[in-house]
Amino acid sequence: MAPAVIATKNLLKTYVVGEHQVKALRGVTIDVPPGEFVAVTGPSGSGKSTFMHIVGCLDRPTSGRYWLDGQDVSQMSKNQLAEVRNRKIGFVFQGFNLLTRTSAIDNVELPLLYAGSSQKTSVRRGRAKEMLGAVGLAERLDHFPNQLSGGQQQRVAIARALVNTPSILLADEPTGNLDTKTSIEIMGLFQHLNIERGITVVLITHEPDIAEYASRVVSFRDGVIVSDRAVTGRRDAAEELRKLPPDREEATEPCQS
Ligand code: ADP
Ligand code: MG
Repeated sequence: MAPAVIATKNLLKTYVVGEHQVKALRGVTIDVPPGEFVAVTGPSGSGKSTFMHIVGCLDRPTSGRYWLDGQDVSQMSKNQLAEVRNRKIGFVFQGFNLLTRTSAIDNVELPLLYAGSSQKTSVRRGRAKEMLGAVGLAERLDHFPNQLSGGQQQRVAIARALVNTPSILLADEPTGNLDTKTSIEIMGLFQHLNIERGITVVLITHEPDIAEYASRVVSFRDGVIVSDRAVTGRRDAAEELRKLPPDREEATEPCQS
């Protein structure tokens, strides 16, 4: 069996707020093999985002171990974590988190600059363009976020997450601000990236029907995993979209170039 891309052992995370301690994670052990699509669900406050921050190398556990691609990252310094994060992790958030006065292509190119890439400008731009093409936005390179729909903005964010060829794509409620059809389109994009490109996806959602697009559903409650199951009868977003009636303006299809 391929080694896990994410392996954690007994992760604990305690936040100290004034005189109080909040035990956000109370012993989380999980293995995620490469190429899996995991949905993380659970009620508000159950520790999903805390888990994601640790898995995404944005924060360290209070105790416990975490191996990312076989490398123990649980004891790394903040600078080391930042370096690992830039190379291995792509993030997608509910609110898109795009720079507003910055074009789509410039937003996508940014992580390459942060990573201190020694690539030439033309190479970086080519890479950003390729990623926007991969999410169906080849014709929107110079649009600003306010000239794009919510679904298109989320696609830009996904292109940005992919530009460094990460090992994992981490998404925290990526469909939280989107209507039903756009949510299916975004889930279709995650399924495509997972199945066709083999990218490991970890997606946090509190919506049970969104979780059914994943291949595995892990449920948190009170800082621990309370269920972990393979999805039977997984939803197929592309299939569902084919069955929907066509609508008037449709500008998000992958371009034929
Ligand atoms: P979820 O994403 O499932 O809603 P979180 O991981 O955000 O859950 O939160 C888990 C618990 O930790 C909650 O009780 C929350 O209030 C607390 N918590 C989260 N982040 C912090 C923080 N930075 N400081 C203090 N408490 C926090
Ligand atoms: Mg959360």
